[in-house]
Order: sequence, then structure tokens, then C-alpha cells
Amino acid sequence: MILERFRLDGKVALITGGTRGIGLAIAKALGEAGARVVISARTSVQDASDAFSDAGIEFEFIAADMRVETSANMLIQQVLERNGRLDILVNNAGVAIHGDSADFDDDTWRKVMSLNVDAVFRACRAAIAPMRAQKSGVILNIGSMSGIASNIPQNQVAYNASKAAVHMMTKSLASELAAENIRVNALAPGYIDTEMSRGGIENPEWFPVWRDMTPMGRVGEPDEVAAAALFLCSPASSYVTGEVLVIDGGYTTR
Ligand code: NDP
Repeated sequence: MILERFRLDGKVALITGGTRGIGLAIAKALGEAGARVVISARTSVQDASDAFSDAGIEFEFIAADMRVETSANMLIQQVLERNGRLDILVNNAGVAIHGDSADFDDDTWRKVMSLNVDAVFRACRAAIAPMRAQKSGVILNIGSMSGIASNIPQNQVAYNASKAAVHMMTKSLASELAAENIRVNALAPGYIDTEMSRGGIENPEWFPVWRDMTPMGRVGEPDEVAAAALFLCSPASSYVTGEVLVIDGGYTTR
């Protein structure tokens, strides 16, 4: 049965930023497929707990600020101590900060890069040893269409550069680790309706541009990203590595 290839029974999955938006949708999708789910973020959210409980999904929450240098190691260590293994790592926590480049100061640049790039690399690095020991593992990094096209009208030089870095990090790690049965892929979502994009969706100057530049004429929903995440995290994609799968309603076709 081909659907069996989407099952994740017995697998342990860690999703950073799993308390809302895209991360929560991915965590739920992996949980529905049978994975034991560990989510992390800076703050626990009751809504997320309710969402898992309502769906009958077993989950754990571990608090971690991924900007802190030691967090990635600590988080993965805790997952291993509590569950004995780590099969799937989803690096989803991220931040977007807009601003004109001439005024974009170093602190703001670091705020974006420390979470969107440094923390992603640190978590990937920390996952290699346990996945190598298990002789299997899957890493999924959440990039963005902004790592492919400089979307408008907002200026967001650091965000765009950070997501391009995520895409290339993904390909480099995929190439390096493929022979050890560790697959590394990325998703590049377009505009998805979450807390991160809400300001833009409600902005009367930005939203018409976003909508009109998207061939499908609408923003996406977190579940539309989560379905692709399930594909890339499961044996359904067993021959896929180094892929950056774009989910953008056609935005980057133009
Ligand atoms: P949200 O802002 O809705 O959710 C972000 C999640 O990350 C929350 O769980 C948040 O929890 C957590 N988080 C934020 N900062 C940190 C931190 N320093 N350490 C640990 N966790 C943190 O974002 P989205 O769901 O929209 O985005 C998820 C990913 O998808 C991001 O990487 C984003 O760049 C990417 N993306 C989003 C798009 C969109 O249109 N929404 C489009 C393309 C890509 P807490 O605040 O409690 O820490």
C-alpha cells in the first residue's frame, strides 16, 4: 500500500517553533502519521496543547530560545534522553524583520541571522551524531520563496539572505550525509496565513500586491505546507534529498 509510506509509527520527531503557525501544523501532521512529537519554542501555548490533545496526539514541549548558542545541543540531548532516539528534525522556528537596507543596523541583522541561519545549522550539526549512530534520519529545514525571489513591496534583505542560506545549507548537508542514510530537504513556502504574515495580510498597501503577484490569487494555509512536510519527513520521499520544495501558489513562476 503506497499510503503506508507516509506512516511514521515509532519515529521521534522534533519540531522547533512548533507551538503555532506552520510549525504546529507540521507537528500535528507528523503526529497524525504516528510519530512521537516533541515541540519547542520560547513559550508554551495552551492552544497548541489543546490542538494535540483534541487530535489524540502524544506530544512533549521543551522550552528553548534557539538564538541562545547552547539551545540546539540542549534540546537534542533532552529529546535523546527522554525518547532514546531522534528520527526527524524540523528546523521551523524563524523570524522576519522588514526594513530598508540603508537603515538596517547590525543588531537587527544578527536577530534574523542568529535564529534563521545560526540556530538551523547548530541543530543540524547536533542531529548528525545520533542519526549517524541510528544509521538513519531526516532533517527538514523551513526556507522560503524569499530565498529564491526578492518579493515585494516590503524590503527584507536579512530575511531573504537568511532563507537563501537555509536552502544552500540544506543542499550541502544533503550531499555530505546521503551515504549515511540521512536525508536533508527544505520547504520554501510563499505567503502562508500565520501570525508572522498577519501584519502583511492586514496591510492595505501590501496585501493587494502579495495577492496579485501570486498566480493562485490567495495566501496559503499552514496545512498546505504540513502535507508537503509529511511527504519529505516520511519514507514516501525515500529517494529525495537536497530538494527545496516550493509551495507558493505559483509566485516564483513569474
Ligand atoms: P510564527 O511566527 O507564526 O511562529 C513562529 C514559531 O517559532 C512560534 O512557535 C514561536 O514561538 C517560535 N519562535 C520564534 N522565535 C523563536 C526563538 N528565538 N526560539 C525558539 N522558537 C522561536 O511563524 P510561521 O509559522 O509563519 O513561520 C514558521 C517558519 O516558516 C519560519 O521559519 C518562517 O520564516 C517560515 N516561512 C513563513 C512564511 C509565512 O508566510 N508565514 C512564508 C515562508 C516561510 P515563541 O515565540 O513562543 O518562541
